[in-house]
Amino acid sequence: MAVYLDYAATTPTDPKVVQAMLPYFTEGFGNPSSVYSFGRETKQAVLKAREEVALLLGAAPEEIFFTSGGSESDNWALCGLSAANAEKGRHIVTSAVEHHAVLNTAEYLRTQGFEVTVLPVDGKGLVRSSDLRKALRDDTVLVSIMAANNEVGTIQPLKELVEIAHERGAVFHTDAVQAAGHIPLNVNELGIDALSLSGHKLYGPKGTGVLYVRKGTLIVPLVYGGGQERGLRGGTENVPGIVGLGAAASMAREEMEGEMKRQNKLRDKFISAAVSSIEDCHLNGAAGEGRLPGNINLRFDGVSSDSLLIRLDIEGYAVSAGSACSAGAVEPSHVLSAMGLSDTEAKSAVRVTLGRYTKEDELHDYLSILQKSVREIRLASIG
Ligand SMILES: *Cc1c(COP(=O)(O)O)cnc(C)c1O
Repeated sequence: MAVYLDYAATTPTDPKVVQAMLPYFTEGFGNPSSVYSFGRETKQAVLKAREEVALLLGAAPEEIFFTSGGSESDNWALCGLSAANAEKGRHIVTSAVEHHAVLNTAEYLRTQGFEVTVLPVDGKGLVRSSDLRKALRDDTVLVSIMAANNEVGTIQPLKELVEIAHERGAVFHTDAVQAAGHIPLNVNELGIDALSLSGHKLYGPKGTGVLYVRKGTLIVPLVYGGGQERGLRGGTENVPGIVGLGAAASMAREEMEGEMKRQNKLRDKFISAAVSSIEDCHLNGAAGEGRLPGNINLRFDGVSSDSLLIRLDIEGYAVSAGSACSAGAVEPSHVLSAMGLSDTEAKSAVRVTLGRYTKEDELHDYLSILQKSVREIRLASIG
């Protein structure tokens, strides 16, 4: 029986979310743009989902735009916000630990005449506010820094970073795909102008996401078509997906406080047990409050994560080396490298991410398998 410990890569759709979605594949099939009753019902369902996502973020429903996922939201935010503000300037700031949906979009924008500054991070993966302050220029139009990192779970000091960006008149976008639904996130308290989230990282369906855009923020449309999503992203709405994302957002809001406490405890107990019982085992990233509740990223000196992952898979544990998107590639994680780890260190990291269905005894069993696997790999390499 396999044990899933890779909730940062994706989460299963919650059964309650599936139940909420099902009617919208069958009797609730109407086009939300139609005026007759079939359409009015689905329009209502989309509106309700928009309100649920807005509540999760402390936003207004009309600031929520449904997309096909985190990657689309990130692409739209970077391209749409920079294009809409290009008259003011053509300089963008982001960080070295962003997801590739942000980093590769920034690279594309470079080819379109934008200048991009990629901020370094400290040993825990944090962006220093002094570095942001130094990077900002009169022609900086956009700053994009993630809320929490997908590999090491480091939570960025967004409020402070937003204030610094705003002092220089730049728009602030955050990739909150790992944070939304997992830790408190209020766009007004933080002052954020745009925020990306993804359905499948918070027990919603895959292929669904949101870009929050603060009222009054200029952004260029993503899809030209009918007037859907306030004319900014045309196309008939993915009604079942949107309903599922709304239900997932509402569940996340209800369960957040309890899940945070539960997962923080599981995480910290596991980390201290692993570090004290396995020789030369180190935690990557921040300890305690500065870290996402479900994230455990450890490295084991002299043990390559590839060989460890294979052994753990044979034992039935689904864990990850670095990010799922770069798994299979021999390159060390760009996040761990940016945090100052050597290639060898970065290639000995294993990420375990906990979720809503993780049980304490699963982690207990996993620890003994991990201890055994690390021991065996080290013995084999001594020969
Ligand atoms: C998963 C992820 C994305 C991409 O989201 P998709 O919905 O899979 O496109 C973007 N950013 C971060 C931080 C992620 O973890």
